[in-house]
Amino acid sequence: MRYIKFYNLKKTLVILSYLMEYCPFHPLRKRRNRVEFIIIFSFLSLFVLKACASSPVIRVKISSEKQRKVKISATGPYRIKGERIKNFLAAQELRATLKGIVMEDKILGKEVWIKPERDSSLIMVNGRRYRGDILIFQQNGSFLEIINQLPLEEYLYGVIRAEISSNWPAAAVRAQAIASRTYALNKRNDSLKKNNEENYDLFSTVKHQVYRGVEAEDDKAREAVDATKGKVITYQSEVATIFYHDCCGGHTASSESVWGKAFPYLKAKKENFCKGSPHYYWKFRIKRDNLEKIFKDNGFKIGKIYSIVPLTFDEGGRMQKLRINYSNGDILDLKGNDFRNLIGTDKLRSTLFKVKKENDYFIFTGRGRGHGVGMCQQGAKVMAERGFTTEEILKFYYPGTEIKKIY
Ligand SMILES: [Zn+2]
Repeated sequence: MRYIKFYNLKKTLVILSYLMEYCPFHPLRKRRNRVEFIIIFSFLSLFVLKACASSPVIRVKISSEKQRKVKISATGPYRIKGERIKNFLAAQELRATLKGIVMEDKILGKEVWIKPERDSSLIMVNGRRYRGDILIFQQNGSFLEIINQLPLEEYLYGVIRAEISSNWPAAAVRAQAIASRTYALNKRNDSLKKNNEENYDLFSTVKHQVYRGVEAEDDKAREAVDATKGKVITYQSEVATIFYHDCCGGHTASSESVWGKAFPYLKAKKENFCKGSPHYYWKFRIKRDNLEKIFKDNGFKIGKIYSIVPLTFDEGGRMQKLRINYSNGDILDLKGNDFRNLIGTDKLRSTLFKVKKENDYFIFTGRGRGHGVGMCQQGAKVMAERGFTTEEILKFYYPGTEIKKIY
């Protein structure tokens, strides 16, 4: 009920107070006929049901970091800051200037709200269709921050295929829908705790959860979202803080070993499902000079690198700490995760690796892709192929949690 919008709540109270007048014990009871009572009661029930079934609204940042202009169009009539745009197919260019956001020669100010006029109209941002509204803010340094504001359920339509394939077995796609909904709702709740300090709740990139708007949707993705509407992963009746990743390489990681924050349902766990997946084994080679350059470019005063030596591992064999021995006997100790971020997460696909030096090259051989915390998407796919249900998949990766429908 906490997700019912305020005006819905106000309307509900007005109708409730009206209905109370029909209660036999109410001091102001009105004598009206039974038909009138039934009509009002049905209307109220429908209204409450509709309000309870409404999805929370989510704000997704869809702009890149240093964007100064954007092209807006739509699939139907729409409004830019209240002004009706009749020729909806022709793109309007909005630019950040010292005077604020400018469209042709009109100054629109520092905030612009773009709304479709009909439910069926979709706003297009640089040619890509989005459900809901678009908000544009001009930031310091004349950059544009572009936000897509829409119901959480419609946002999820555009997440599924950006994260996995919707052709996977339905149980795995639905598990992804529930995991993505839980993740997004958590970000929304974090924003509410911070009084919406930022203009958005989450990014549309791998930093949080990949989202590509309507272009990423298909029937199977929408079906998985609709079939799990309002369902989230909970722990002790609260929305759980969850993470997921592509492939665990045979052992998941605990949130504590990766980020230093422990959750009872995000523990390291042996897993035998993803072994045949395309990302199970990986290899990466880098020339010593290039490795040294990465360190120097990131502000490390480092000389010639002689060796990389593992110091500590977590229970699944992920490298927690490693030592770099370089010129004149100097050493640099780094966390495995920081080292992976420094080299690039696309190159060093996980921290579950071994490293050796061959001539002028460092050769990394590893398993899995991603941080390893929570659900392994490749493992979930195999579990679904073997007949596990959505709930069984989620409970395997998030032990001790419950799946609850909250709207
Ligand atoms: Zn796995």
